[in-house]
Amino acid sequence: MPFLYAIVALTGIICLIFFLKWIQLTTGNKRVEKELQGFQIEKISTGSVKSLSILPLVDFYTDDPALKTEPGVSYLIQADDTKILMDVGFNKKKEHPSPLLHNSNQLGVSLKDPDFIFFSHRHLDHIGGMQEQKNKCFSISQGPVELPEIAVYSPVEISPSPWNPGPKVQVVNQPKILADGIVSIGSIPRNLFVLGYTLENSLAIKVKNKGIVLIIGCGHQTIERIVERTQALFDDPIYGIIGGLHYPVRNGRMMLGPINIQNLVGSHKLPWKGIREDDVSLAIAAIRRVNPEFVALSPHDSSDWSIEQFRKAFQDRYHDLKVGEKIVF
Ligand SMILES: [Zn+2]
Ligand SMILES: [Zn+2]
Repeated sequence: MPFLYAIVALTGIICLIFFLKWIQLTTGNKRVEKELQGFQIEKISTGSVKSLSILPLVDFYTDDPALKTEPGVSYLIQADDTKILMDVGFNKKKEHPSPLLHNSNQLGVSLKDPDFIFFSHRHLDHIGGMQEQKNKCFSISQGPVELPEIAVYSPVEISPSPWNPGPKVQVVNQPKILADGIVSIGSIPRNLFVLGYTLENSLAIKVKNKGIVLIIGCGHQTIERIVERTQALFDDPIYGIIGGLHYPVRNGRMMLGPINIQNLVGSHKLPWKGIREDDVSLAIAAIRRVNPEFVALSPHDSSDWSIEQFRKAFQDRYHDLKVGEKIVF
């Protein structure tokens, strides 16, 4: 009999948690819709850069056995003379040197002289760890790393951890020119099951004689809304789409037994609906409408199946995104 009571009590608790989650999901989704409807956008006027390169320092795949991989993101972006460190990886194993530091050393890249750090959003795979997500801070590694007093742009409050003091954080939600031709398109919200309300920024870099190259972190905003925002900000064509779009469909990079964690946490829908094949088709259709010359999907939050759909859809315009392989425009 006590066993029966325990089962009933446990079922009750699970139902209550689920009910509270369901309320959070529906109210959060309504909040996002309302905010997006009320967001005023004006065209942005900026120059362009002549050259742009993106070197993935952290991501899920590489062809170089000397480099480390993980389901996180850090890209080193060079746009003319401006050097940007976008996100700082996951450091899932809490190492020092972190995969970011290790790979930078292997590739002969210095992290001491970026002009600024740009955070797409404050999730563990972009700010250097789970503890960092809890503490709302970021770490380059789990050991001392000297960083100058550069600016850090983030869609939400974040502070440098004691391992890397120095940088000064600015919260940026509105579209903003960070340097000539380099624009943060502004925060786009999404309400995620488990992770809740999430603000994410992306970079739009205007490349002379080509157009806008979008560099995206996790892509929680959805590519449809990123494209919509970009078109509202610029008259120029979208030339490139690079980075994470979060399609862990059929499989994921963080599996807990049969549970696809990325699919569970990264959707605004109920867990059994999650992110599905249809969402990938809709994303491909949205990208096709803007007809970019260059598409590269980050494997850190998209499955091999999703990458294959992108490869088939965009053929010679599709490029693999791998640690250590510089993308040059
Ligand atoms: Zn994320
Ligand atoms: Zn991510």
